[in-house]
Amino acid sequence: MIKDEQYKKYMDGGKDFINDEEIWEKIEKGKNPDPQKIRDIMKKSLEIQTLSPEETAALLNVNDSSLWDEIYATAAEVKKKVYDNRIVTFAPLYCSNYCVNNCLYCGFRRDNMEETRRKLTLDEIKSETRALAGKVGHKRLIVVYGEHPLSDANYIADTIRAIYSVKVKTRNGYGNIRRVNVNAAPMSVEDLAMLKDVGIGTYQVFQETYHHETYKYVHPFGTLKSNYQWRLYAMHRAFEANVDDVAIGALFGLYDWRFEVMGLLYHAIELENRFGVGPHTVSFPRLTPAKNAPYIQNTQYKVSDEDFKKLIAVLRLSIPYTGMIVTAREPAEIRREVLPMCTQTDASTRIGIGAYSEIDGAKEPVKQDLTKQQFFIGDDRNLDDVVRELAEMGYITSFCTAGYRCGRTGKNIMELLKTGKEGNFCKLNAILTFREWLDDFASEETKKVGEELIKKEMEEVKTKTPRAYSPKVVDELKDYYERIKNGERDLYF
Ligand code: SAM
Ligand code: SF4
Repeated sequence: MIKDEQYKKYMDGGKDFINDEEIWEKIEKGKNPDPQKIRDIMKKSLEIQTLSPEETAALLNVNDSSLWDEIYATAAEVKKKVYDNRIVTFAPLYCSNYCVNNCLYCGFRRDNMEETRRKLTLDEIKSETRALAGKVGHKRLIVVYGEHPLSDANYIADTIRAIYSVKVKTRNGYGNIRRVNVNAAPMSVEDLAMLKDVGIGTYQVFQETYHHETYKYVHPFGTLKSNYQWRLYAMHRAFEANVDDVAIGALFGLYDWRFEVMGLLYHAIELENRFGVGPHTVSFPRLTPAKNAPYIQNTQYKVSDEDFKKLIAVLRLSIPYTGMIVTAREPAEIRREVLPMCTQTDASTRIGIGAYSEIDGAKEPVKQDLTKQQFFIGDDRNLDDVVRELAEMGYITSFCTAGYRCGRTGKNIMELLKTGKEGNFCKLNAILTFREWLDDFASEETKKVGEELIKKEMEEVKTKTPRAYSPKVVDELKDYYERIKNGERDLYF
């Protein structure tokens, strides 16, 4: 249910904070930027300061390929400075594909009569969770729903409770889901407060496109989703409900990618100005094939691989403190290419309703079935393969979920990130959770590569980090580490 008063009050002079003409003007004005200016902008990002729209527009207008190479390198450096070599991993859990909306790009749209509709019961949610937490080893999920009275906030709250209730015995300890993030339709302050009470991690809503006219076209008139501002101010309501880890995104391919990058930046700046906290993460899904989704074939804004890399780099520099998520929509080779600029990725991903339980008992590999899922995914490799590949590339997969459970959210975490101090806790927790995962779930091959990486990380804790850890912390880490090896679980700093 849309509550007009819950978003109109934020609209100064009846206008929202995305001014389409102004964005295009800035992009136009930024043409032919001086290389020195671009290097100054990169310096500002390296100081972990949000860029201005003019600065981002200048980056978007770079033409010189060697300057782009500098931009990619700086984007990776910014990522390293704020998040070191950690990649957080998660899996999506699709709970229901009933939907009252008719988004022209989505397989769940109500006009897609070939979609088999299903809403998981709470027992089925628990089976899915057992497969994810007990077999694969995930600690963090994002739950996803169509917009429908059958999957309202009460159902969402029930599913989150059901997920947190599952605990599965593993090789050396137990597995459970410790953080549930939510990707669902925009909600009212009251509904969000209910989700806060059941322990929601991050609340994620993608604006899809920031361009008003395109938004109107792809979200047909008369559907709930056709209200641009109800969606645009979803995060404002989240802050009101004390949900302070919020995630934004745009669906790339609906409109010009440069415009969407600017839209995301304006959104981040608005949240920073209004609440003192920017987005916890930014997502940049690209359109992938879906059944009976006419816009996908017709769009003139399809984003090439080259532009995809550019947009990620510009976002990384523009909102330098934020987490950035590359998903399994992208094929493995693209993920490899852009990972140095990103902080999170999913693995062992299935997006069919009930797909994890299905695959769990299957004798043959289960193929993707577009009549049961929202769109096609480009990379269905399992977590073990992804963790091993990351370790070989020098990245540690972090299963850490400590942040929200000890108050490192919203403003608190934003400060830590901007000053480079979040890494203090994160590095230690990454080592501990990686140890847990290796003992409980890794194949022999992955364990071998993982052990090498842990050795290096342990050394760094003592010697090489930007801020040295005190001997007391190092001792505490060693103590936790040994206890985890002996089967204790979920110890964190
Ligand atoms: N139904 C809710 C909503 O629309 O807000 C929850 C989100 S929907 C299940 C998850 C996201 O998938 C959408 O916000 C959209 O960005 C993305 N999506 C939809 N169709 C897609 C497609 N064909 N390819 C890639 N991503 C798509
Ligand atoms: Fe429904 Fe969301 Fe798909 Fe739109 S994107 S049709 S709202 S599930």
